[in-house]
Amino acid sequence: MSDIIYTKVDEAPELASASFLPIIQKFAAAAGVSVGTKDISLAGRILATFPDYLAADQRQSDDLAELGELVKTPDANVIKLPNISASVPQLVAAVKELQAQGYALPNYPETPETDEEKAVRAKYDGLKGSAVNPVLREGNSDRRAAKAVKSFAQNNPHRMGEWVADSKTRVASMSGDDFFSNEVSATLANAATAKIVLETAEGETVLKDGISYPAGTVVDATFMSAAALDAFLADEIAKTKEEGTLFSLHMKATMMKVSDPIIFGHAVKAWLAPVFDKFGDKLAALGVNPNQGLGALLAAVKDEADIMAAIEDVTAARPPMYMVDSDKGITNLHVPSDVIIDASMPALIRAGGKGWGPDGKESDTNCVIPDNSYAPVYDETVKFFKENGKLNPATAGTVQNIGLMAQKAEEYGSHPTTFEIAAAGTVKMILDDGSVLHSHAVQAGDIWRSASARKAPIEDWVNLAIARQKAEGTRAIFWLDANRAHDAELIAYVKPILEAQGVADKFEIMAPREATRASLETITKGENTIAITGNVLRDYLTDLFPILELATSAKMLSIVKLMNGGGLFETGAGGSAPKHVQQLQSENHLRWDSLGEFCALGESLTFLADAKGNEKARVLGEAVDAATQGILDNGHSPSRKVGEPDNRDSHYWFARYWAEALAAQTKDADLAAQFAPIAEALVAGEAAIIAELAAAQGVAADLGGYYHGDAAKTAAVMRPSATLNAIIG
Ligand code: MG
Repeated sequence: MSDIIYTKVDEAPELASASFLPIIQKFAAAAGVSVGTKDISLAGRILATFPDYLAADQRQSDDLAELGELVKTPDANVIKLPNISASVPQLVAAVKELQAQGYALPNYPETPETDEEKAVRAKYDGLKGSAVNPVLREGNSDRRAAKAVKSFAQNNPHRMGEWVADSKTRVASMSGDDFFSNEVSATLANAATAKIVLETAEGETVLKDGISYPAGTVVDATFMSAAALDAFLADEIAKTKEEGTLFSLHMKATMMKVSDPIIFGHAVKAWLAPVFDKFGDKLAALGVNPNQGLGALLAAVKDEADIMAAIEDVTAARPPMYMVDSDKGITNLHVPSDVIIDASMPALIRAGGKGWGPDGKESDTNCVIPDNSYAPVYDETVKFFKENGKLNPATAGTVQNIGLMAQKAEEYGSHPTTFEIAAAGTVKMILDDGSVLHSHAVQAGDIWRSASARKAPIEDWVNLAIARQKAEGTRAIFWLDANRAHDAELIAYVKPILEAQGVADKFEIMAPREATRASLETITKGENTIAITGNVLRDYLTDLFPILELATSAKMLSIVKLMNGGGLFETGAGGSAPKHVQQLQSENHLRWDSLGEFCALGESLTFLADAKGNEKARVLGEAVDAATQGILDNGHSPSRKVGEPDNRDSHYWFARYWAEALAAQTKDADLAAQFAPIAEALVAGEAAIIAELAAAQGVAADLGGYYHGDAAKTAAVMRPSATLNAIIG
């Protein structure tokens, strides 16, 4: 096993790796540090899942499973780049591409009938959505802006849209009968096995059996009423029209891969309600599944003139929709994975509450977030900026995050225990001693789910928060709502630990809405705060605050403190990665910023030094920090425009600053001697390297595939400087 594992992923970050990884491997080797790779790309995971369909030389090892074991050991040191959380359309496209490349994979069975189809479908379902992070995240999360990154943002403040007091932008959520209001929760005194059953007039159906929980697990159950959701959506579509804003829906269909596509499907049906009323049977016969979005629906009915005419009539009567791509007519409701709440809401808030309409212009927007568990964070942020005007990134302090994440904590681990209810009845969670833990009366179509959080991760999370607060000395807030069932159980864990350690006075506990306001007030004053949150808010807040403070969340330091002593270093969001790939393919310019990789690399090397006593790794890591600072201070981050320096240029400068720092340092004479000639060569080659990199741009680039590119073709595109390649090898 290599000292450090660098993950092979998809899209823009993987293209960046084709240029950056050879540099890392060369520099690390000088310190005796080996850097290997493991393939967690969507294509790689598909190939590893279907060995029986492939020729022997096409088969691929299950690297994700291997990494899943590694992260449970103290030896883990993994740099994890953003990978695709596949929606069904992405999964189908990846399979098609692999089939065209000669991999005899089975088709994705839309409506599996035979046993074989059902087995294939189950395997594909395992690849859907966020299938990687839950396996790797065997620890809690520590995310913050590195000092160099934060001070750079303060000294070079990005543009922020103006917020005005009479902005019509608002957040709309259900008034009840949602996951938030129906939640019940209990902490198990003893280890238990549970089953989930649906009791109806016809009898009992077992929805899930054999769920085992260790003692101390917080187990929740809740549901969203389909009828209440439909009424809410119809009402909000009408109100949007009255208010003259854009209609938008913000979900997390990637991570919440069972519940959120269903809610998304309800929105598609609500939007086209008259069409579904009139042509429901025909749409079903055409194989339309509203959960897959308006795009798939339109493709399925494009030859049905009567349906198309009805859709046109409805669309004309609707308010304008928030667009993903107004030039191409891609709406919010086209693809469930296009608008992802933790990316879409911060972008809209940063833009002064504006979204893009079908006319290609910015407009105030009704932001529909049906469930109330976390919507108040965005609602309060919108209200705060309406009252106070936009945030000033030049003076704003920072919000760090300590997030409960380990062992599939909370909603993000709830997919196997989420069900769209088939018939009216009662859902019960029954423990092996026969006692009923939770019970809900439900109607057909309701979305019921159970989430849980285990004792060891909760305690580890509280201790991580205590350590972080001690290191920073700033305000620290647990974002927990004493009036929410699940949060009340967590508070019962948090308070005694804080008291036992004598630090209760260092922490506040506030509901998400109040914590949002308190945090915004704190950073507006130029002070810092730590948000200690559950798993969903970890995900949301580590985009919201960075996008306001730094213009992007891709530059955040993201460390997973693995519970068994290893380290997992994540490198930021992949939100706009597809657009980056399209630009590279059409004009050979990669705007991806590798700053997240730089920060993670520095942390990974320092961790290796601490964990293994490898002092050369420490010197390498310190030089990485100097190189990162050099990139920022000297303005060598990639430009967005073709013909200007891109990702590859930033890697040249990173290598140069890294080598210069290593040559200049005095802690390790051997490393200084090794890197002096490399630094000299990189300086001497500057003009040639920059010219060779620039000459590559402006033409189409062939990667040999989107999901499963050709390694040689990709390397040729991403390493176009013969001068640089000769130095790096
Ligand atoms: Mg996020």
